[in-house]
Amino acid sequence: MKIAYSPVYTYNKLPEGHRFPMDKYDLLPAQLLHNGIVTEDDFFHPIALTETQIIRTHTPEYWNKLKNGTLSRHEIRALGFPFHESLVERGRHIASGTLACAKFALNEGVSLNIAGGTHHAFAERGEGFCMFNDFAITANELLFEKLVNQVMIIDLDVHQGNGTANIFANNNAVFTFSMHGEHNYPLKKEKSDYDLPVEDGIEDDAYLHAMEIIPTLIDNIRPDIVLYLSGVDILATDKLGRLGLTKNGSKRRDEKIFNWCKSKNIPVAVSMGGGYSTNIKDIIDAHANTFEVAKDIFY
Ligand SMILES: [Zn+2]
Repeated sequence: MKIAYSPVYTYNKLPEGHRFPMDKYDLLPAQLLHNGIVTEDDFFHPIALTETQIIRTHTPEYWNKLKNGTLSRHEIRALGFPFHESLVERGRHIASGTLACAKFALNEGVSLNIAGGTHHAFAERGEGFCMFNDFAITANELLFEKLVNQVMIIDLDVHQGNGTANIFANNNAVFTFSMHGEHNYPLKKEKSDYDLPVEDGIEDDAYLHAMEIIPTLIDNIRPDIVLYLSGVDILATDKLGRLGLTKNGSKRRDEKIFNWCKSKNIPVAVSMGGGYSTNIKDIIDAHANTFEVAKDIFY
């Protein structure tokens, strides 16, 4: 199983004052190895996206601001973290990892990124901790290289994939599906091709039941690849999520997605997305389940 991992750009390697508020990207690979779900050979280190790949999705104006460090204070505040050039490099590697995973998935059925799922980035700006939109970049690149004709994005992070929805609003080759907390960030939702808002506090069974629309959508759209955003901020323990799922519910969610894709012969590439439970063990366990379930179902 191929897993994208950019250890140079995880928590401990970033300059002081520019570190992300959690170290799940360091802890998850260690737990996957410790639990015997993967071996060192499963990991690969993605190279950075090229500028051409970036501006196939993002505007040259936005890219130039990132490259030259000339974002306005307002733009940096919207991004949600203090700007540093190493974070641009980090973003280029992580989004490239998602693209590489998608290409591996086309051959092997599944591939996952330790990071990614930066669905709040728009073409012309960043937002909500998202600088580059990895799924949008990946979809555009796969289409440009004519590796696929139809992409389906299944975004089950608790927050709406607003940047992704906006970027592909007028693009029939990319179908955007977002299931998210109706009352959660972003307050102003964009229009995905299919939005499935859920109420605060929704529990396992009701959530898993609501998901059952997805196989019908897959059958209608007949994508050549699914890009799956497996955020674990759907957990009841999440500080931002407001939903009521258990870790087992989150695992059953992942099983459904992978089983549907596998049974329909559709490759699936995964980005991790959010996860903000108070106890970091809950975050790591839930993300690790995604990787374990993928391995069990595809290998
Ligand atoms: Zn989220």
